[in-house]
Amino acid sequence: MGFSTIAIHAGNEPDSATGAVSVPIYQTSTYAQEGLGKHKGYEYARTQNPTRAALEKNIAALEGAEFGYAFASGMSAIDAVLKLIKAGEHVILGDNTYGGTFRLFSKILSNYGVEFDLADTSDVAELEKAFKPNTKMLFVETPTNPVMTVTDLAAVSELAHSRGVKVVCDNTFMSPYFQRPIEHGVDVVVHSTTKYLNGHSDSVGGFVALNDAKDAEWIQFVQNGVGAILSPFDSFLVLRGTKTLAVRMEAHDKNGRVIANFLAEHPKVQQVYYPGLTSHPQHELAKRQQSGFGGMVSFETGSLENAKKVLESVKLCTLGESLGGVESLISHPATMTHASVPSETRSKLGITDGLVRISVGIEDVEDIIGDLDQALS
Ligand SMILES: *Cc1c(COP(=O)(O)O)cnc(C)c1O
Repeated sequence: MGFSTIAIHAGNEPDSATGAVSVPIYQTSTYAQEGLGKHKGYEYARTQNPTRAALEKNIAALEGAEFGYAFASGMSAIDAVLKLIKAGEHVILGDNTYGGTFRLFSKILSNYGVEFDLADTSDVAELEKAFKPNTKMLFVETPTNPVMTVTDLAAVSELAHSRGVKVVCDNTFMSPYFQRPIEHGVDVVVHSTTKYLNGHSDSVGGFVALNDAKDAEWIQFVQNGVGAILSPFDSFLVLRGTKTLAVRMEAHDKNGRVIANFLAEHPKVQQVYYPGLTSHPQHELAKRQQSGFGGMVSFETGSLENAKKVLESVKLCTLGESLGGVESLISHPATMTHASVPSETRSKLGITDGLVRISVGIEDVEDIIGDLDQALS
């Protein structure tokens, strides 16, 4: 079956009680039991909820995974995956992950004996040096946020697996429509469903998809044991969002390419970061690994002052954190999403004070261009 057919039908069976075509929001905390130990597979709503179960089936299918679990946020999904790691074990973390992921490692997990090192996962030779005898996990994000560095998922998976190390990929930027990491050898996929999967900037959520039955059993145990579950209403929203994932991603990609080209030719823009541009150093890898380039574009304005002018002059684009919604959002990584990353690390990665990031929405592209053009001038 094709992607859109899976998106619309996986998990979306008509309701067994009423025939409702749209999966109902099962807003309940518990379930009536027929007798002692006799129930319909649902006992308590932290453990099981039919709306959440439908979403879990849906996104797992989109990622080509056997198992999927929905969490209260992207961060709680990532935290659950890191509970596969024990004190004294070591994780290699991509050096340009989402700021919150870095903060989870540096400020929280480090208190529990989880060791980690940062590495440039886009450079396989460099990455090889980061492995230690106690390394158990490699955590990558591709393309990275906000400088759009691409990691070769097949190459790093092969390297990690040769050392018995599991590979986790944060697939938030591409969504399963443009990139399915499991097909490239990745073991575990995580998402912030807050972004493209939900797609309408009206829900915070996270997801874990994987094929290993033993690890899946543990993730499910953590989901119930810690309790950072996605609510029935949010599950409904994301399930509704994924039905249009294909058409939305096509529109984001179409507009993203136009905006990247517009910016690349603009005299006030010094550099554009977008894997879809032939000038991107990893354009060929991106073309091979992804079936599109999406709507995330970053560009260099040269200074904090210039960036501030652009960010405060836009009228259509909304100044705000987050990404992946139908509306164009514009942000300043150095002071917003990546404020928790130490400044010397930021400058090493190219996250300068003049860098601006746009999550290109699906408005009419001429209107986005017009807005950016007036803001730049
Ligand atoms: C937003 C984001 C997260 C965190 O997700 P939340 O839903 O905000 O908790 C993780 N990774 C990436 C790439 C993100 O963009």
